[in-house]
Amino acid sequence: MKKFNLKRKYLFPLLIILLMPSLYAMSVKTTPPFTKNMAIPMLCYHRIIPNGNNIYDITPKQLETQLQFMKARGYHPITALQFISLQKSPQLLPDKPVVITFDDGSKSHYQNVLPILKKLGLKATFFVYPSAVVNHESKKYLTWTELSEMVKAGMDIESHTLYHPYLVHAHTNITDPNYLNWLDHQLKVSKELLENHLNITVKLLAYPFGLFNQLIESKAIAAGYSGIFTINGGANLLNENPMRLKRMIMNRQISTADLEKFFQSKPLPVAIISPTDASIVAEYPVIQFRLTSVKLPMIHVQVNNQSADLYPDANGNFTYQVPKSMNGFNLIVISGYDDRKDFYVNTWCFDYLIQNKTNDMSKY
Ligand SMILES: [Zn+2]
Repeated sequence: MKKFNLKRKYLFPLLIILLMPSLYAMSVKTTPPFTKNMAIPMLCYHRIIPNGNNIYDITPKQLETQLQFMKARGYHPITALQFISLQKSPQLLPDKPVVITFDDGSKSHYQNVLPILKKLGLKATFFVYPSAVVNHESKKYLTWTELSEMVKAGMDIESHTLYHPYLVHAHTNITDPNYLNWLDHQLKVSKELLENHLNITVKLLAYPFGLFNQLIESKAIAAGYSGIFTINGGANLLNENPMRLKRMIMNRQISTADLEKFFQSKPLPVAIISPTDASIVAEYPVIQFRLTSVKLPMIHVQVNNQSADLYPDANGNFTYQVPKSMNGFNLIVISGYDDRKDFYVNTWCFDYLIQNKTNDMSKY
């Protein structure tokens, strides 16, 4: 708006009228809400069915209520691809964007989700692992025909690997060529199958179970993905690393009030001292970090199912020695309130692997 006012002072009224449409467009494009610290929440849904038996099953009615709620509160649901495409030109994103994604290729995405999205005029991203599509005898998963229809309706279909395995965890010998080839296969063949069957370009990946480390990430980038989605918690900064985007995993107990709290949470600006994000470590690390641009008196830290309240030392560092180490993927969630009661949260992860343990690849 500043630009607009400044120019107006120096222009004749007639010129103003003539230029009004373009000046208006300019003012729209350059007006905040987009700031460096703006948070972009992303949601990860699974099955959307009326009588689900697991915590991640959400009813169609619940989904519709949540989407209606977002619209009513001025949030704009967008696809993951829209976010990745516009991350560098955020002025083209709608106000208060929320990225909506559905994982695992459940048939309910065609039967129940598509009609709701159409009704509300919304688009979303579906992360699909093609082996489920190929083996859909169980009638639980999407078929290629259904996926094609979803593409035609403007939905964004992206990769969730080939058959949804644990990419980390089971594989402790990370130099084993069999393991490295298997990783490539999971990442590349899923992309190719989706592209060939649906005549689309697949650019994005969601890690099965949210499990990853730097090695897997480098393989995914080499396979051609330009955006990667985890289930690390917290909202994303506008300039978040597009290869490590955070999503909140939805479950049936999350109310619209919980959603609102999540949407209003702020990414906690942190300088990580140890262990670095997505690192592979052979010794279980001491967790240490400092806050950069905000000051919180106390930080709650959670590593897997262990947690503590931390206070800064004289140098401003927070330190946590996890009581019980866990082999494999470890998620570190830190959160806290500032004196205005704003809630901040951040997450990073590391992979604790006992090196050179031999694995039987035939098991995977
Ligand atoms: Zn999944």
